[in-house]
Amino acid sequence: MRGGARLLRHSYWIGAMLLLLTIVPSPVSAAPSMVYFPQTGHHVAEPFLTFWRTHGAVRLFGYPIDEAHTEDGLLVQDFERVRLEQHPELQGQILLARLGSLLTSDQAQQDPAFTPIRLDPPPAEQPDRRYFPQTGHFLAYGFKRFWERNGGLAMFGYPISEEHQEVNPDDGKTYTVQWFERARFEWHPDQRGTPWEVQLGRLGAAYAAQRGIDTHPVAQQPQAPDFSWSLFARSTRIVVLMYHQVGEPASRYRIPLWKFAQQLDWLRDHGYTVISLAQAYDAVLNGGPLPDKPVVITFDDGTAGQWAAAQVLEAHEMHAAFFIVAGHSELTPDQLRTLVAQGHEIGSHSLTHAHLPLIGADQRWREVAASREQLAAIVGEPPRFFAYPYGEYDAATIAAVQAAGYDGALAAWGGTQWTPERRWNEPRVEVSGLLTLEQFAQLVEHW
Ligand SMILES: [Zn+2]
Repeated sequence: MRGGARLLRHSYWIGAMLLLLTIVPSPVSAAPSMVYFPQTGHHVAEPFLTFWRTHGAVRLFGYPIDEAHTEDGLLVQDFERVRLEQHPELQGQILLARLGSLLTSDQAQQDPAFTPIRLDPPPAEQPDRRYFPQTGHFLAYGFKRFWERNGGLAMFGYPISEEHQEVNPDDGKTYTVQWFERARFEWHPDQRGTPWEVQLGRLGAAYAAQRGIDTHPVAQQPQAPDFSWSLFARSTRIVVLMYHQVGEPASRYRIPLWKFAQQLDWLRDHGYTVISLAQAYDAVLNGGPLPDKPVVITFDDGTAGQWAAAQVLEAHEMHAAFFIVAGHSELTPDQLRTLVAQGHEIGSHSLTHAHLPLIGADQRWREVAASREQLAAIVGEPPRFFAYPYGEYDAATIAAVQAAGYDGALAAWGGTQWTPERRWNEPRVEVSGLLTLEQFAQLVEHW
């Protein structure tokens, strides 16, 4: 927390008092280890339940279509879009089965979209295009973003086809699709700019049908309540908005100031309360109080135009967290100090915006620890939170962030369900500068 003296100078205390009136009661009972989905008449129990809840839930996986069972020594369960498997040889890790590969083994023989493209040397990665020499396929644009934001290689595996047109057997419509080892991506242009722009094909259902797996509903077990997010007190819905540049012209990473102001008006008019990252973490880790509809506003990269956004926030009596690239900040030291004095939070976004998982341990440590020291020297207190450049992190990066003394870290994407388990990669929601106000509202309300 910040010092009380500084808080008193701002309207923060009044907000804090009002918050006390709207504290969300913390449920007393522990979260269930098995739930029932009346939609399909099946249970989901641990170990799949936590994975399902925290890695995409209905949006990515769909509902369960059978009960967990053992096949070839693996515990497996089928969902509409995926099959989940627990791998004892990987410390019990949950993986999506390789249904993409399994279901296309015949198609891949004849369809040119599956023919590997051999390029030697492989072309360098570009922001919107990446070549995978492992399978000889490209991943580009919207599918690349979706793949990166929702778990990447570990979740979906490598691409095994190029993008191409395919008829969806479920609705008979033609979509632009791409196959991966563990999934099929389907582009829905009518959902552009929303979380439903790319959807996973119903591979779990297709596989179950092919194998003749019994998907009939089963009777609800007495100890399994109907699934509801409210059962999982430790999972808290907090909408953490991620912005980048501010100004014209609008682009994915640049939002015009008027649009930003319009979004703040919308949040205020629809009952949202902008809270600090400190409060969000306190709620998730310690059960601290939260308003009814909490939102956190974050800015990455410390670009010059964000100064104007901070003043718009000030006019709305709202605050944001600014994640600064300590070695390349366009916001000046004076501006950073003013932001802190105005009640904004300053976080670290590394020293040089490096790809942290890809660099050496010494350099990674400097990016994480020296950036913290430099920002502390400017604003007088060390930043409590870290945001991963490009949203990229691995175990070594998380370990460095912990060791450097941060209290938590933010991923770039991942939705709105905050949990203590995700303390070092809590999710955010990217706000593209291209969204309409309606699309923004849909993101905030429904993601
Ligand atoms: Zn960044």
